Amino acid sequence: MSPRIFRLVKWYLQFNSTSKKFLHENTYEKAKRFFELNTALIQTARDKAVEVLKSFERNKKDDSILRLKRISVRFDKRCYGFAKTTNVLTPYWLTLSLNRRKRISLPIVFGEKQKQRIEEALRGEWSFTTVEMVKRNGEWYAHFVLRKNVELIDDPETVIAIDRGKRNLAVAVAVSENNPDKPMKGQFWRGEEIKRVRGLYSHIRRKLQGKKLLKKVKELKGREKYKVNQQLHIIANQIIEYVKQFPKPVIVMENLNGIRRNFKKSRKLNKRFHSLPFRKLQAIIEYKAILEGIGVKYLTKRETKNTSKTCHKCGYVARIKGRTFKCPRCSLTYNRDLNAAINIAYALTRRMGWGSCEPPKPADEGIGVKPTLNAGSSLLQ
Ligand SMILES: [Zn+2]
Repeated sequence: MSPRIFRLVKWYLQFNSTSKKFLHENTYEKAKRFFELNTALIQTARDKAVEVLKSFERNKKDDSILRLKRISVRFDKRCYGFAKTTNVLTPYWLTLSLNRRKRISLPIVFGEKQKQRIEEALRGEWSFTTVEMVKRNGEWYAHFVLRKNVELIDDPETVIAIDRGKRNLAVAVAVSENNPDKPMKGQFWRGEEIKRVRGLYSHIRRKLQGKKLLKKVKELKGREKYKVNQQLHIIANQIIEYVKQFPKPVIVMENLNGIRRNFKKSRKLNKRFHSLPFRKLQAIIEYKAILEGIGVKYLTKRETKNTSKTCHKCGYVARIKGRTFKCPRCSLTYNRDLNAAINIAYALTRRMGWGSCEPPKPADEGIGVKPTLNAGSSLLQ
């Protein structure tokens, strides 16, 4: 099946053209005659060839030779069907139509999670869009792209800020519309297991590199990535559960594109820690939240300014040292990561115009009882 499409991609590459128009006008009829594939697949192969050539031109060095290592072919809805059968080998069969007469059916084996999702799709909870066939290490993989329409909560009542911390992978806090001055239920995710996995694998890699087992090293990289990813999903699920305990929640996070907060990078321990994959976690949180109908907002660069240095009670911008935020103006003493998260939540409540979320001016400085909070994976209120 797909070998024919690959031959067609290669065939297109020999024209050495990145112009779809040129290729269409000069080659379409021939391609149709030689390869007997339907129009959509011919287009797919042509576009793939253009894409491959463009990326080759962008990245080539003087002595580069274009080689096709891994290629994927996308089938849109017109070109495939998917059905559940009573076949004993596997009930799931993918039928690709290559042209008007020729179809091929392929048995598909799913992992447990994928099976659940595809069953949902077969029940109509998701709609099928494209399927992408990829050959990797001699085996074929089918990537199904599914679509779901979800309705997001449009009048949120609780803002939940999720931030990376200095010493935690993630920290969350909630601010309710009814009582915005009283942040609720701060929670921390330390990412210990990720740190452990990373430490372990970097140790093994160092040992192997001495012996120059590069292939093995590469393999381990893949396994490490898989394990870290697994942990990120577990943590993201816990965060979504946390979020769902509040009425009509909306999530707010820092936009990390192009922003790097000034953490000191000198110490070795810190270095490993700072590579904790919060960005990846954000992406997972975002799609899991949206599936639950929970909106996700990001702060603008301006809104993000000083979130870690500002006192969430009085608005004073202070210098911070260590794990605790101490406000020299109103003498608030607070967990540093949690203070930053509250400021992120307030940036959104301000945007939404909830109550007076401007930090109040303290009437009498230095008076009053200050809350003291300690870090830990615990609830605060
Ligand atoms: Zn203060």
